[in-house]
Amino acid sequence: MICENIGINEKGHLTFGGADTAELAQKHQTPLYLMDEDRIRHNCRVYLDAMKKYFGEGSLPLYASKAASFKRIYEIMKEEGMGVDLVSSGEICTALKAGFPMENAFFHGNNKTDFDINYAMDAGVGYFMVDNMVELEAIDTFAARRNIRQKVILRLTPGIDPHTYAAVATGKVDSKFGIAIETGQAEEFVCKAMHYKNIELMGYHCHVGSQVFDEDGTVYLDASEIMLRFAADMAHRYGLEAKILNMGGGYGVRYKESDPYMDIAGNIKTLSEHIKKLTCELDIPMPRMLMEPGRSIVADAGMTLYSVGTLKEITGYKNYVSIDGGMTDNPRYALYGSAYTLFLANRMNERSDFLCDVVGRCCESGDIIQPGVLMPKPVRGDIVAVCTTGAYNYSMASNYNRVPRPPIVMLSGGKDYVAVRRESYEDLVERDV
Ligand SMILES: *Cc1c(COP(=O)(O)O)cnc(C)c1O
Repeated sequence: MICENIGINEKGHLTFGGADTAELAQKHQTPLYLMDEDRIRHNCRVYLDAMKKYFGEGSLPLYASKAASFKRIYEIMKEEGMGVDLVSSGEICTALKAGFPMENAFFHGNNKTDFDINYAMDAGVGYFMVDNMVELEAIDTFAARRNIRQKVILRLTPGIDPHTYAAVATGKVDSKFGIAIETGQAEEFVCKAMHYKNIELMGYHCHVGSQVFDEDGTVYLDASEIMLRFAADMAHRYGLEAKILNMGGGYGVRYKESDPYMDIAGNIKTLSEHIKKLTCELDIPMPRMLMEPGRSIVADAGMTLYSVGTLKEITGYKNYVSIDGGMTDNPRYALYGSAYTLFLANRMNERSDFLCDVVGRCCESGDIIQPGVLMPKPVRGDIVAVCTTGAYNYSMASNYNRVPRPPIVMLSGGKDYVAVRRESYEDLVERDV
């Protein structure tokens, strides 16, 4: 199985986090997001333990909460001692409602509005990840009004191509995000930040991209080297010490059997050795290390269950299996052509000899969950499970076609509970005046 929290029980049903998925579909109805809380905690601990062991006490993994943002997830992050990345006032509001300690919150975004900046400062967000010069000035202005010095980290682009999908590659010079080192603009950025009285420059950030399988480790090693050389330059030229270095997120997860396993702890170990060696060589102190995993914290902790509705067999062409969800709860195939592993959850011991495209219910030909799937030929009412949907599914869900969003049911220690209830039709029309 693509993840160790997936199995088959004696009834021939797919299990997830130890629970019978066919029974969960019956109990909570479909479409349904499942999230394995135990797996989320396990994934957090891989980062927490490895970073503490190899980078030392001051280090901290920040959960990039855009991957899946709802109250319960911030409570879990708080309990695990994780920091969090927030990218909007909406995410800040959700984290606040969950009682997340805001000093461990880091605010991202390439276009924080005046409202956002003020909202974040009022909420007591610990750090702003500043994306550009314009934002720097706005932060200084609003910090001055409050008579505070806002801690900031500058987002830089190291000019690295992480060999992932173009839509999720973010560390290149021509990226929408951050300021490039290569063009000399990063230095200008630093000088500007130092000059503002109400800004406290804490260090640098980079994020090379997402779904990166850095098997030989070179992407992160190269990025860290470029960042540290820049930090040393700034230290020697302006006497500015980088207290924090944030290497971003992006480690890949397994969507298919053929995807490699990412050795996260091993990668962190190699990265730490490289960084320690470089800081010695460059004669700068070892910065406090941060990382920002999103996908690798929640992706394999998620599974989506659907009921099969209609079948369409076009002889000589292809077969369609329509399910009771689609691009409204999982737009990733439509957006990126993302691969997924699917099962017919209530008939796991039967032969998978029916080739079909599993498609959604929306009025859109591109509403495809996954083409070319092999499963036992389904009948109306069978349960389709899509694996590894914990990241960028619920958080990217929409109400297209006035379809209500599914609930999130959490699994923990063999028990299930609702963390986000199913949207009702009343919810859909509530804001219409
Ligand atoms: C999205 C994002 C992350 C998380 O990326 P994953 O691939 O989900 O690990 C981290 N940092 C920044 C700045 C991001 O935008």
